[in-house]
Amino acid sequence: MRAFTCPICGGKLKIKIGTEYAACDSCGSLTKIDPEEAERFGEIYRSAERSMRLNSVEGYEEALRQLDSISFIEEAQKTHAECEKRLRDLQANLTQRQAPGSASESQNTSFAGVLLALTLVFCAAAFTGIAYLAFRLIQGTLSPTATALVIALAALAVVFAFLNKLKKPNR
Ligand SMILES: [Zn+2]
Repeated sequence: MRAFTCPICGGKLKIKIGTEYAACDSCGSLTKIDPEEAERFGEIYRSAERSMRLNSVEGYEEALRQLDSISFIEEAQKTHAECEKRLRDLQANLTQRQAPGSASESQNTSFAGVLLALTLVFCAAAFTGIAYLAFRLIQGTLSPTATALVIALAALAVVFAFLNKLKKPNR
């Protein structure tokens, strides 16, 4: 794409999207741009915006390429800087998530395994305890100590089951 220079002083022209006139960076005089050309720049700019909205490394790289090709557009320069910043943020985010992430992932898995085993143990104990209590209740020999113990077991089972549930959507 050709460079836009001022016909009076040869300075760089700054084009605004949606306008048919470009202002010279040096002398400030206005130069008319071909409306079709102006429309094409606008299209490239909008396409770059769409690429940015993908919020992916490829999207931002594509947007940067598109914005580079219309760097004489005022908005493109600003958006280019913004796009570079977002790409850097995204890449930093990705490396952060990949590096220690994979280690804690396996840690998470083994932790979840232990949690699940404990939950099953406590659930089994609570059920046994409840069955025992029911048996003692029928016999009329229910002791407060046994009742408290079984209630504690049931509470633990509920807590662990809850932790298990809580853990799942994270993985
Ligand atoms: Zn000029």
